[in-house]
Amino acid sequence: MICEVGIARCASYDPGEVAESLALAIERAGGMPPIESPDVLIKANLLSPSAPDRAVTTHPEVLRAIVGEVRKIGNHPVHIADNPGYIFTSAEALMDRTGVGRLAEIEGVTVGLLAEGGLRSVSSGSFRVLSEARVSKRYLDAGYCINAAKLKTHVETETSGCIKNIFGTADTSTRKICHSSASQRRLAEAIVDLFSIRPPQFHILDAVVGMEGDGPSHGTPRRIGFLLAGRSALAVDWVAATIMGYENPLCIPVLDAASARGLGPSRRSEITLRGAEWGELPAVGFKKSSGLVRMFPTFLRGLAHSLVSITPRLEREKCVRCGICGKVCPVNAISDGPSGADRKRYPKVNRRSCVRCLCCHEMCPTGAMAAHKNLPARLAASLRDGFSPSPGGCRPAPTPTLRFRTVGSTTWDQSPGPPFIGCRELAPCRSLRQSLKVLLYFFCISAVALALRQNMPVSSACGKINFACSVGIEGRHGGGIRDDVQGDTETFGARLQR
Ligand code: SF4
Ligand code: SF4
Repeated sequence: MICEVGIARCASYDPGEVAESLALAIERAGGMPPIESPDVLIKANLLSPSAPDRAVTTHPEVLRAIVGEVRKIGNHPVHIADNPGYIFTSAEALMDRTGVGRLAEIEGVTVGLLAEGGLRSVSSGSFRVLSEARVSKRYLDAGYCINAAKLKTHVETETSGCIKNIFGTADTSTRKICHSSASQRRLAEAIVDLFSIRPPQFHILDAVVGMEGDGPSHGTPRRIGFLLAGRSALAVDWVAATIMGYENPLCIPVLDAASARGLGPSRRSEITLRGAEWGELPAVGFKKSSGLVRMFPTFLRGLAHSLVSITPRLEREKCVRCGICGKVCPVNAISDGPSGADRKRYPKVNRRSCVRCLCCHEMCPTGAMAAHKNLPARLAASLRDGFSPSPGGCRPAPTPTLRFRTVGSTTWDQSPGPPFIGCRELAPCRSLRQSLKVLLYFFCISAVALALRQNMPVSSACGKINFACSVGIEGRHGGGIRDDVQGDTETFGARLQR
C-alpha cells in the first residue's frame, strides 16, 4: 500500500499564508477525493473551550482555509463540528472561545456539536475491544467528511493526530468505557475500533503551532511550521510522529494497532512524502509526552507500566472546585468533590480505584489536576528529554517565541520567523540515550529477580520497587503527602510495614 502525504511549510496563522500552504499540501497529497455528497462535514478538534494560541484545538484559520478549498470544488454547505471532552459551559462558549464561532459569520458555515443530531449505537465484527459504540449520527451519515486534526502530544496515547481525532465522534459514555481499561493497548484498540467504523475521506493536520510536553490540554505550544494533508490518516500521523522525533512511529500504540489492521502503511517505504525530506522533519528538542513505557521493549512493557507511574495529583491553589474531574473519571475514582450548592470541598482521588487514565488531568480547565511522575518516571523523562539533539551538541530545547494578534475576543498567533531548525547530528545523543536506557532495563530486571526470589507476581515486585524508590529516595510518604490522599498514604505505610 503506497500512501501519499503532502506537506507544506507555514510559519504563521496569517490567513493568506495558511490558505496558500494548505492548497500546496493538498496538491502534493494528490488532491482531495471528489465530493459527491451535497454537503461536507469538517471534524475539527475542539477538545475544550481554549483560545487558539493555546494549541489545544484546530486553529480557526486552518478551518477557514479548508472551507476555502471545499468552495473551490463546489458550493457545498459546510458544517464544522466536534464533541469536546466535556461541555464546560455551553456550546456557544466553546465555539466563541476557540474562534470557530466567527467562521459562521464570515464564511457562512454552520458550527456546532456532533452530538446535536443524536447518537446511534454501532457494533461491528471488526471491533477488537468495544462491543458497542454510541457515535454521532451526524458523523455517521455525513456523505463527505474532512478530518481537521491538531498535532499534539497526549499523556495517555503518546500522540494525538488524525486517528485519535475521530475518538471525539463517540459520546462521553463510550469514551469512558474506552478509558476505563488500565491497558494502553486496549485503549489504542478501542480508538482504532471507532476510527474503523467510518474513516473520513481526507485528513488535514494543523502543525503550524503544535503542542509538546503533557498534552493534549496542558502541554506547551510549540512552533513547528507545517501543514500536512493526505488520504490515509495513518500515513499523516506517521509523518507527524516523525516530526515529533519518533524514529519508529509504530511504537505508538494507536498507530501500531491501525497498521496491524491494514488501515495504512506498515513501513516508511510505503509513504510517499511530497514537500520535504524525511531527514529534515524532526523538530529540535521536541518534548514528548510522559507516556514513558514506550521506551521499553515489548516484552518489558507490562513490567514498566507498574514501575513507571504517572498519577493525578491535585494542586489546590489552582483548583476552582468546578467538579469536572469527578464527572469525567471513567471509574468514579474521584469522590467528595464539589457538587450542587456545596462548592467548598476539593476533589479527592481514590488511588485504589484509579486506573491512571489521566482524563481528569486532560479535562481540568485550570491544570490543577497535575500529571505527577514518580521517581522512575522522572528519571526516565530526564533521560529521554533532558538532552536535546542539536547541531551544536546537547542543549535545552529552544523556547518558542510567539506573538499574538487579538481579533475581537479571539487571540490568534501571528508570529513570523522560521518554523524550526532541522537537525541531522543525532548520533552522540542517541548513543547516550541508548546507554541510559540500559539503566532502566536494569530496574525491570531487578523486579523480575525480586519476583523470582520472593515467589511473588512480577507486578507486586514492581510495586515494591516503585514504592521503595518513592519512600527511600523521595521521602514523601508518611507525612509529607497531600491531605487529599492521606487515607491511601496510611494504607501504603501499613503495606510497607508488612
Ligand atoms: S481539579 Fe480541576 S477539574 Fe477538578 S475540581 Fe479542581 S479545577 Fe475542577
Ligand atoms: S482519577 Fe483521574 S486518572 Fe484516575 S481513573 Fe479517574 S480520571 Fe483516570
